[in-house]
Amino acid sequence: MAGRYAPSPTSALHLGNLRTALVAWLMARHTGREFRLRIEDLDTARVTAAGDVAAGQLADLRALGLDFDPPVLWQSRRLAAYAEAAASVGDRLYECFCTRREIAEAASAPHAGGFRPYPGTCRNLTEAERAARRRQRRPALRLRADAAVQTVHDQWAGEVTGVVDDFVVRRNDGVWAYNFAVVVDDLAQGVDQVVRGDDLLSSSPRQAWLTRLLGGRPPSYAHVPLAVNPTGTRLAKRDGAVTLADLAVAGVGPQQVLGLIATSLGLADPGERVDSGLLLDRFEPSVLPREPWVVPVV
Ligand code: GLU
Repeated sequence: MAGRYAPSPTSALHLGNLRTALVAWLMARHTGREFRLRIEDLDTARVTAAGDVAAGQLADLRALGLDFDPPVLWQSRRLAAYAEAAASVGDRLYECFCTRREIAEAASAPHAGGFRPYPGTCRNLTEAERAARRRQRRPALRLRADAAVQTVHDQWAGEVTGVVDDFVVRRNDGVWAYNFAVVVDDLAQGVDQVVRGDDLLSSSPRQAWLTRLLGGRPPSYAHVPLAVNPTGTRLAKRDGAVTLADLAVAGVGPQQVLGLIATSLGLADPGERVDSGLLLDRFEPSVLPREPWVVPVV
């Protein structure tokens, strides 16, 4: 049994990311689970700085007192595992030659959050049609899901039901897709508790369905409301001193940052000195706020 935190090494973790990591750690440790780390670097593996960014992310988590159980998993080193998992569901895979624009034009009106289910254009191409398209464009690989309806239970959002469209497993640039890799890795790491930002809530029915298809049991889900800046938009690095490094320069050390985040979660009084062990003693999942956190940006 394990929980996990799975950052993408695109830039240093900001206060919202650190808060989600703290909640994931608290939920895992509170329920006696291991806590796993995974670096989601499939997109960034070719970027030389990604290794340094990831090392900084791990150091920041440690600075807040969030320990994790080895080994750290790097997605860029798991390509053989993704290929093997894809082969195991090979009868459901098909090549898709659609561009984004073609999908947008063929699809019905977008669903919630702008999501456009794949309209199935390439699902039943003949071998001759495929051969012709291959000469024009490298295919992506999609997984036939037969419009399965999947319900998941989220700790805070309750029942969430989604129709699973034929989603991309491997992109046309050859990179394994997030929705596929995340499920293969959660299974490999023994993850049965997923705590992450609520921007990914709508992906969970699809991921739960894939977990079953690969022979596993879907994990429990808890999607944490995101951090926003004072104007109400999603917190970003340009919003000011929002990383541990920026805050250190402004004279705010990791322990104070932990205190600030803990206050936002109702686990500490403003200005109180806390450490991760004390927060774990106090932690009770049902009292966590369900609203976005408006970060007091300096
Ligand atoms: N790597 C994703 C992110 O940084 C998180 C994926 C997940 O937790 O499932 O947003």
